[in-house]
Parts: sequence; C-alpha cells; structure tokens
Amino acid sequence: MEFNLDLGAEKRKNILESVINKIDEYYRNLDLLPVAPKLNLDEIRSYVKSINFDKPGTPAKIIEKTFKGMSQYQVHTSHPMYFGLFNPRTTPMGIAADALAATFNSQLAAWSHNPFACEVEKYLINEIACRFGYDSESADGTFATGGAEANITSLLCALTHFYPEYLDKGIGSIKNKPVLYMTEQGHHSFIRAARVSGLGSEAIRIIPVDAELKMDIEALQEQINNDRKMGYHPMFLAATAGTTGAGTIDRIDKLGEITGCEKMWFHVDAAYGGALIFDKELLKHYTGIERSDSITFDAHKWMNAPMGAGIFLTRHKEILYNTFYIKANYMPTDSAGMVVEDPFSRSIQWSRRFIGLKVFMNLAVAGWEGYRKAVNHQIEMGNLLRELLIESGWEILNSTPLPVVCFTEKTKKSDSDLISICNKVVASGKAWISFVKLTDTVPALRACITNYMTEEKHIHALVDILNDARG
Ligand SMILES: *Cc1c(COP(=O)(O)O)cnc(C)c1O
Repeated sequence: MEFNLDLGAEKRKNILESVINKIDEYYRNLDLLPVAPKLNLDEIRSYVKSINFDKPGTPAKIIEKTFKGMSQYQVHTSHPMYFGLFNPRTTPMGIAADALAATFNSQLAAWSHNPFACEVEKYLINEIACRFGYDSESADGTFATGGAEANITSLLCALTHFYPEYLDKGIGSIKNKPVLYMTEQGHHSFIRAARVSGLGSEAIRIIPVDAELKMDIEALQEQINNDRKMGYHPMFLAATAGTTGAGTIDRIDKLGEITGCEKMWFHVDAAYGGALIFDKELLKHYTGIERSDSITFDAHKWMNAPMGAGIFLTRHKEILYNTFYIKANYMPTDSAGMVVEDPFSRSIQWSRRFIGLKVFMNLAVAGWEGYRKAVNHQIEMGNLLRELLIESGWEILNSTPLPVVCFTEKTKKSDSDLISICNKVVASGKAWISFVKLTDTVPALRACITNYMTEEKHIHALVDILNDARG
C-alpha cells in the first residue's frame, strides 16, 4: 500500500541500516565537531522549513537532512569538552534500548499488556530504592519523564498523605494552610509543583543558605516555628542532594531530624547527585536519606540514559496508588487474578513509553561496578579541574564532593567580566561551560564533568582555553 509508512521490508532494512551508520559516523566524528553551534535563527528556521510535507522526500534524503541538522544546530552534550548542565553522553546500550522501546512500542498503562516491561521497571525501582537505603518491603516508586515530574509527584503524594480528602474536595477544602520549604538553590520545578497542586507559589518558603550554600538549619527552624504560630501547616521540605547550580548537598541527616520532629514530608531531590548510590563509600554524603519520605533521581543525568528517564521513589508503599488511582472501565484488567500493578494507576502519566528499558540495559551491561567506576572517574576529573584552576590563579567558589566546579577570575569577577569569558569559551566551539549566579551577589563560571569519556587531556585543554579567554 502506498502510504509511505511501512515502505516494505527492503526499504525498512535500508532505513534502519542507514540510521545505524549515521549513529556510528556521529560517534567517530564527534570530537571534531564544534561543541556548540552558531545560533542564527533565520538560517536554522529556513533549514527546517526546507522540508516540505506537500512534497515528501525519500527516506535517504530525509535521514541525511535530519542528521545534518542535528549535527550542525545543537550543543553536543556527548562531546568530551561539554562541561555543561547535567546532560550526559548516552551509551550504545541506551540507544539500543530506546530503539527497541520504540519498535515494540511498549505501552506501560496496564500490566497485562506489557508484563515484561512492568516487571523490569518494578525490579529496577526496588533495586535502586534499596541502594538509597529504603526497605525493600515498603519501598515503591515509578519512572517519570524527568526530575520535574518526580518533584511534582512528591508534592502531590505529600498532600494525599496529610489531606486524603483533597483528592475529591480539592485544595480549597484544606483548612490549615500547607506550606513548603526549600532554598533558592533548590530546583525551580517545586514552584511549578506548587502551582500544579493548587497550593500556589506563595505557599513556598525560601529558606536562606549558609556560607556553603546549604539550607540554614536555624533559619529553617525559626521559619517553621513562625509558620505554626501564624496557623500554617509546615507540610513539605525539599532538600537537595546536588544542586543544579553549585552541586551543593544539604545537611540531609539534620533536615531528616527536623522533619521527623515536625511530622513533615521530607523529600530529597537527588536528580543529579543520586548517582552516588553506585558507591557505598560516596553515599555517606547522603547519610539519613533513608529516612526521607521520597526521592527524585534522574537516570537521564549521571546515569547516562537518553532523555526522558526520571525516577520517583518513596518509602510509603500505598501512596502512589492512593494519589493516582482512578477507576477506568475501558482499561484492561485481565491479569488472571494475579496481584500486579498497573502503571497508569500510579503516576501522572497514562499511556507511557518503556522508560526503564534504557536503565535496565545499561545497568545489565555496565553492572553496578561499571557505574561505580564511571562516577568515581568523573569525580576525579572534577578534582583535577579544581587543582589546575587554582594553579592558574582562578578561585573556586563552591564546595562539593561532586564534579561541579564554580569558579571566578581573581581580578575580573563582575557579572559582565565572567559572561564575557564564558561567551569566548563557547564561541570558540572548543568547549562549553556556563555562567551562573550562585547568589544574587556571587557570579561564577560553572564547569561540570558530565561525560564519562572526559579525560585528563580534556581538563588540561579546558584550563588552557579559559586562561586564553581571560586575556
Ligand atoms: C535537573 C534537575 C531537576 C529537573 O529534572 P528534569 O529531568 O530536567 O525534569 C530537578 N532537580 C534537580 C536538582 C535537577 O538537577
């Protein structure tokens, strides 16, 4: 049939083979590509619109054009000189997994449609939850699109926990006014969570940070006391294990004590930093995390899964089901009397892809040990970068065991000085770093080792480029 959809067995094989060849070509040439593209909006738009749906092209032409577009107009986060946000280099196993997930189009709504996929995810959730120190019997969780969804999920679960009636009667039925606590270093997805939940962003208390950019414990306690006096309900605290800007780790143990005494929901956002679970030694930085009520961990960050792999974990077995279950008559229930979990009952998403597969296949090949080594390698590269920067007279501004390095020039440290250095580095196409405001008054350059292929020679090269850029 001439839909130009399936295209027949011969063409299908050609399409798939040519994509595989292109992927291989990408990896072979990646180190030679500029890390960041020149951004010319008109040029990019006209390139995109040169594809005309009234005049369809051949698969070969469209693959070529798409590949060229992606090569030319994208920051190559897989490049070993990408020292950017938490966007990793993916892996051949992750790519294979995404291709298989797309081929089988596994639909993780009803268990009975995809028992393999559902059980793979359940297995992963349990293994990962246990690594964080949760008890296998009470732990639960779900795969999500990313950390933002996982963070929103945490707030909705907390509301269900304290105010189950809100599920039907709405947020207006809550007489006490629930408030949540985070720092300005915490992730802004909690602001969205406050909006989506109906609490509103004014329900957020921004707690100041101390000199190390960690949540100030005394200020937190004082704010909680004041809120109680004023008739608010201190309900939810979001600590961060590896902040997005500076990689800072809040005092999880201490915060766990406070939230325990105050009977609050304690969430730890470890979207990036959660990868320390791969090394029991490193996990000591998160002492007390096992007492948290829920955790966010993104497999599409330091675990190298292709985009769209968040994980939400909780130690409250029933809470996801209580929060998200809706009876839907059209959903298949045929699991032959077995006690199983339908993913659509336990998540914000309904029809969703087999997110866990790329985590499963990666882990199955690298093993816990492969990840332990990869994480330690990147930490070492971060330490090397700090050393070399100090040797060259730069000043380090943050303090974290994670490979997130925030630094400044000693004499040229205004916003505009640092932005100018950053722009020079990025425009060179040789490396990608970013500019960040650690606080309102502390600008910094930020370089994070996000790539397991980044080696010593790349760190030396980055410092050379920086030394040139500061003039
Ligand atoms: C990246 C990040 C998020 C958001 O996760 P997405 O996967 O981008 O949705 C939340 N919290 C922290 C600490 C992050 O680094």
